[in-house]
Amino acid sequence: MHIQMYIDGEWTEATEGNKREIINPFNQEVIATASEGTRSDSEKAIAAARKACDEGSWASTPASERGEMVRLVGQKIKDNREELAHLETLDTGKTLEESLGDMDDIANVFFYFAGLADKDGGEVIESPLPDSTSKVVREPIGVCTQITPWNYPLLQAAWKLAPALAAGNTLVIKPSEITPLTTAKVFEFFEEAGFPAGVVNLVLGTGAEVGALLSESNDVDLVSFTGGIETGKTIMQAASGNVKKIALELGGKNPNIVFADADFETAVDQALNAVFFHAGQVCSAGSRLLVEESIHDAFVEKLVERAAWIKLGNGFDETTESGPLISAEHREKVERYIQIGLDEGATLAVGGKRPEQADLKNGFFLEPTIFTNCKNDMRIVQEEVFGPVLTVETFTTADEAIAKANDTIYGLAGAVFSTDIDKAEMVAGKLRMGTVWINDFHPYFAQAPWGGYKQSGFGRELGKIGLEEYTEVKHIFRNKNPQPVGWFK
Ligand code: NAD
Repeated sequence: MHIQMYIDGEWTEATEGNKREIINPFNQEVIATASEGTRSDSEKAIAAARKACDEGSWASTPASERGEMVRLVGQKIKDNREELAHLETLDTGKTLEESLGDMDDIANVFFYFAGLADKDGGEVIESPLPDSTSKVVREPIGVCTQITPWNYPLLQAAWKLAPALAAGNTLVIKPSEITPLTTAKVFEFFEEAGFPAGVVNLVLGTGAEVGALLSESNDVDLVSFTGGIETGKTIMQAASGNVKKIALELGGKNPNIVFADADFETAVDQALNAVFFHAGQVCSAGSRLLVEESIHDAFVEKLVERAAWIKLGNGFDETTESGPLISAEHREKVERYIQIGLDEGATLAVGGKRPEQADLKNGFFLEPTIFTNCKNDMRIVQEEVFGPVLTVETFTTADEAIAKANDTIYGLAGAVFSTDIDKAEMVAGKLRMGTVWINDFHPYFAQAPWGGYKQSGFGRELGKIGLEEYTEVKHIFRNKNPQPVGWFK
């Protein structure tokens, strides 16, 4: 399989002819090659999107027609969910069951924004001035660039593509250079659906080469980025040249607060899922467990026992519960954090090393790892590890749990487990996070906004606000009885 870029309605090789091998993190086999672009490919894609925006008809196409085309792409995703899920599992190592679930969510995201496309026709407001009318309308922002990470390749792309198009923008997207397969596949659907040339453009390559111009260029009106905090800061600075709009979905260090009155088995099971799902490579992973002191020992004992049973393996094997990490470099980064945890004096309760099974030797596997005796000021508690590593701390009062939970630079998500719903609601209200779950972990859906407080970023994806982010708001005032003002005599 070889994948190309899609610029101005044409499939195209990189200007300099470079290619990259895409590998399966389960066994390091080469599964595809991809065109590896350079800055000049981004220039071409931005120029195509600019032209389609300024001279094309996409922005003025009736919103219901735009919605219909977005819906068509959603339907194609639904019809091809198995092929797409297969590609996602090959590319990321996640289980096929998870990939299939992702594809269903992705189709729903397209259907949701397709349905919203013609629902916000603006509003008439009452003007306080005599003989006048006043209305507020929403318009597309213009040319949007979108940069996505490797952990949920097509899901993160869908959260950006569907609303941007429904709102009438033109765009250039750059998936992570290590997981471009599913995003490229969906561009076949854009082509089949008949999107006009230049409205949707795909560039492939590294952040430094292909990504940088997407945030720097003065021809771009908005850059939407999902990825790590340091890259987010670079993008924010680069975007300042023409004061383009920015949306940043960055990392998290998400607390999972378990009170002693929580349903024990449910809370253990959910805590396990919160952190070890997709090998912890989830921006909202519940990687910090805050457990009430009175149940700490029993809770940790059960958690450690169950973590040791997690079945690592090939994502295509039905018995596999968790796949590998994404790359050799990423596994090394997570291993460095495990060493940091040890050096800081945390107690390694389980895991911490590469599994010994022969059939996992070629994959980037790491055992599910739990550190107990953690303190809030440890780096292992404060910094995003983005792997299968849980830290455990205790608390004795709700206030202490809230204070500890809020004490990081991040604010993406968190959860509270308790059978005392008033207490759980009180805690949820005090957490400085964009999403708080009560007696659950991880649910997200197209209808509810997603995004971070604090250094987890700004801007929201999904929900009604996810469409509004891709619009400019204009106030149009009309004087129905124009007269000279008479201010200057
Ligand atoms: P990353 O920041 O390394 O890369 C993300 C994307 O940015 C990639 O496409 C990369 O090529 C590109 N990029 C890198 N440098 C760039 C530059 N200078 N200019 C423009 N583009 C550049 O992140 P990653 O390792 O791919 O993903 C993991 C991170 O993503 C984690 O921190 C995770 O928390 C975060 N994430 C956040 C959310 C969310 O919703 N908040 C969702 C998923 C992942």
